[in-house]
Amino acid sequence: MKTCAIVGVNWGDEGKGRMVDLLTEQFDVVIRYQGGGNAGHTVVNSCGKFALHLLPSGIFHPKVVNVLGNGVALDPENLWIEIEDVTSKGVAVSPENLKISDRASLLLPWHRLQDELEEHRLKDREYRTTKQGIAPFYSDKYQKKTILAGELFYPEKLHRHVQELLEWKNLTLTKVYGAEPCSLDEVMGWLAVYGERIKPFLCDTGSFLRAAAQAGRSMLFEAQLGALRDLDFGIYPYTTSSNALAAYAPVGSGLPTVKLDSIIGVVKAYSTCVGEGPFVCEMTGREAELLREAGGEYGAKTGRPRRVGPIDLVATRYGVRVQGTTEIALTKLDVLGYMKQIPVCTHYEIDGKLTEEFPFPDALDDARPVIEMLEGWDCDISGVRSWTDLPEAARKYVDYVEEKIECPIRYVSVGAEREAYILHP
Ligand code: GDP
Ligand code: MG
Repeated sequence: MKTCAIVGVNWGDEGKGRMVDLLTEQFDVVIRYQGGGNAGHTVVNSCGKFALHLLPSGIFHPKVVNVLGNGVALDPENLWIEIEDVTSKGVAVSPENLKISDRASLLLPWHRLQDELEEHRLKDREYRTTKQGIAPFYSDKYQKKTILAGELFYPEKLHRHVQELLEWKNLTLTKVYGAEPCSLDEVMGWLAVYGERIKPFLCDTGSFLRAAAQAGRSMLFEAQLGALRDLDFGIYPYTTSSNALAAYAPVGSGLPTVKLDSIIGVVKAYSTCVGEGPFVCEMTGREAELLREAGGEYGAKTGRPRRVGPIDLVATRYGVRVQGTTEIALTKLDVLGYMKQIPVCTHYEIDGKLTEEFPFPDALDDARPVIEMLEGWDCDISGVRSWTDLPEAARKYVDYVEEKIECPIRYVSVGAEREAYILHP
């Protein structure tokens, strides 16, 4: 049985969806194992252009079974909207090719509400979350105050459980935030609509995956966000609320004993970051605008402009280490084609000292990027499909990055479309 995880090495939006879509044909099962509908995984293929949020990016391959594991934030309403969107474009989604863990916790409307209320309370100190309720959801999960999807099969107990949780949650909504309480009817009504819709997809995905493993079927694990947004190893508190690491794939997928044969880390040829938090290599002004335009760096979920900068070798090497990547997909190399010279961040300077090590989050505020300029190739490489056809400067850039991040680059992506990639010898 072949197993592989595709994970983000940077701050997210590296092109994970694009790589999962490309490599899915080599796998039987694709599993999303953490995060929620705040993801935006863009996939461009013969079915069209999609921004997937919760659906695994393997959904376009007819023979692949897609799984939403117990580690995801399962928002049945938004998942349903997403299912309707892809099916309206001719993609088949059925309980045959989509299986949702009965152990996944449900993201409820009050999580989204609480996210919004907290961002409002913070005012100018807000985290600029996607307001999808992800942080309140995972906090509640750790407090053991969520509803598991499988509870939908036990309506009487479900009713009692929702009632208990509501009593507790309304204390926060009304007494902490001064907001209106949620009503039981409202929540039960919402569950009656969206819970019922996802019910046919629910099953014990753990036993499905165990059986698949025993039958020797290959598995691809798809992560959301990137190493620097990982709850434990990222730029806390500007992280997400789940573990974006490959190491979490076994637990979040429902197959806790699985060993990963390979871990493909997706690295962008430059840096982008959405939302607040330290971003040492950030570019500003005209330089930033040019890169943002060239890369189309606007959020797939929110449409908001992403912060941009040169590739950050310090942060990327750290991301490679915590992900334990065995190989790298370097994406969006084509975007750098307009630059005569390409900046790369090689070190941080902190208190007058140079470092190559990614520091403790608080030290990032005082870190200054040390920039080196590499030769650009100054032409469009989006049509190139072989290593030898790449301009020499582009090959040098790839080899330079590979050496600095200490992990072999296997794929070089030069376009959003499925086939727009080059194998690095
Ligand atoms: P994800 O969240 O990691 O899946 O990445 P996103 O989909 O949020 O962001 C990546 C963006 O870059 C998407 O709009 C992709 O269509 C696009 N993309 C991916 N790879 C390439 C590439 O090699 N070149 C170009 N020009 N665009 C790419
Ligand atoms: Mg994204």
